[in-house]
Amino acid sequence: MVRYDKNDAILANIAAAFEKRLRTPCDVTLEIDQTLGEYTGVVEDGRIAAGSHSQLMEAAGRFLRNPAVRGSFPSQKPLCGMYFASHFGNYTDEAPLEELYEYIDDLGFWGVNTLKMWLDLHHFRNMGEARHKLERQKALYRHAKSMGMQIWLTTISNEAFRDSVRALRADWTCGHDGYVYPLNDHFHVEICPSKPGGLDLIKHYRRAMLEEFRDVEFDLISISPYDEGGCSCSACAPWGGNGYLRTVRELIPIYKEYFPNARFVMSAWQFGTFLENKTVEFERLADVLHNDEGFRDVAYLVSEPQYAQYAVTHDMGRPIIGFPEISMFRASPWGGYGANPMPGKIGELYDKYGDKLSGIMPYSEGLYEDINKILVLRAHRDGSPTAKTLREYLGYELRIEGELLERTARAVEAMEATLARKWDRTTHRVEILDPEKIPFIEKEITEIHALLPADVQKSRRWLHLYYRALVDGALLRAGFERSEEVREIYRRIMHLCHLENATGVYQRPDVDDVAITEVYPDSEESDIEPTPEAQNQN
Ligand SMILES: [Zn+2]
Repeated sequence: MVRYDKNDAILANIAAAFEKRLRTPCDVTLEIDQTLGEYTGVVEDGRIAAGSHSQLMEAAGRFLRNPAVRGSFPSQKPLCGMYFASHFGNYTDEAPLEELYEYIDDLGFWGVNTLKMWLDLHHFRNMGEARHKLERQKALYRHAKSMGMQIWLTTISNEAFRDSVRALRADWTCGHDGYVYPLNDHFHVEICPSKPGGLDLIKHYRRAMLEEFRDVEFDLISISPYDEGGCSCSACAPWGGNGYLRTVRELIPIYKEYFPNARFVMSAWQFGTFLENKTVEFERLADVLHNDEGFRDVAYLVSEPQYAQYAVTHDMGRPIIGFPEISMFRASPWGGYGANPMPGKIGELYDKYGDKLSGIMPYSEGLYEDINKILVLRAHRDGSPTAKTLREYLGYELRIEGELLERTARAVEAMEATLARKWDRTTHRVEILDPEKIPFIEKEITEIHALLPADVQKSRRWLHLYYRALVDGALLRAGFERSEEVREIYRRIMHLCHLENATGVYQRPDVDDVAITEVYPDSEESDIEPTPEAQNQN
């Protein structure tokens, strides 16, 4: 029997989700105990307690995975979140809400305590057009909040609706004002805050959006510089140390009108990527964070040391939240080939930079990188090595035990070497750069599949691993061409991930007949080569 204080609605929700996941009945009391502090949980005989709801969920998750566990479990990091990218008809956009609620709960038991999303204005002409997505996002935020998680609204500083005022649009080009690369993923509808009326229009669009979100109680709000966003014009350059700072300074009071209790987050994502001078944006941001009262409500800074180390080697005046890459690395369409486990890379990044970060907010496009999410989370939560977490994951989520567990873990680990691939979206050819282990993985995963109980064989987490093994085997047999066998597995992946309506080139498995020539069909395309960093991400 699971006992808890029935007057605590959040605790009741956690208890219900906990009970649903219990594999064997037990007598246990779930309890909020303020004396433990916000980020510590304990598991004792008959009692699971923590100083906050999300930490209680984390402690309860330990018990679900191992009912014999006992001890006190402080989190190394206060902020362990997940960014659910929601765009181009991807998994967050299209999966049934009930499935996503379950998934949020699953992640909570692994230690996610914050959910972040972005309502990308560029998809719409006005908030009326955004209604469907808005309501879905609000439902997801409310669910996360009902489980005791923090909720985080992320925005781009100068973003705009797709029919934004043409004369006030931002520059994204390079070859001037210190810019040596064009701005990454710029939609070309963003607004320049330096043009007369530009800042007013940015504020106007922002208010239109915030008005619709006013009944959601955000804990954190970020205002980001680039990707997609920014302006490289002479008056805004260098964006991260000039136009961006002016825009954020003006926007914070507006956000505060709607969400007076929210803490703010700024971002150094892609600072230095496009400019010849790699440090000027960091230097100017550090200066205002240290000295400018207009930025006093900024609680955190997002920066990812995998791509730029300045923020973790200099005093930026704020704790740093990492933005580790788990979704897009070296294989596109993202998730188009099933699971993409990267235990080696994630472990390496954590060993290098883990102690420099106060939290993490991985970028998620779907369930296909579920293993990566858990590996990152457990590393930052309690320093758990990725090899150990992977086995814990396979044991708990897929109920694989004993010798079979080790076999499965080895096959999944081998998938990292065969992940990198070059996709030609015109010919549909996919060249896997290091195919050596593909036959081993396919043989192992196929044999293991036959030994699993029927419900595990059909589970979404297993199918992502299974399809990856199958599609890589099929690609190898077809000389990396899109054979009918390959295409059929792509279709199965599409159905598994609810991507039938996905419009994004990088979100939709390569099932269609057409040669894909445009990444963002509604934006003007730049004919300038993207940066090496951007190419690496894609
Ligand atoms: Zn500008």
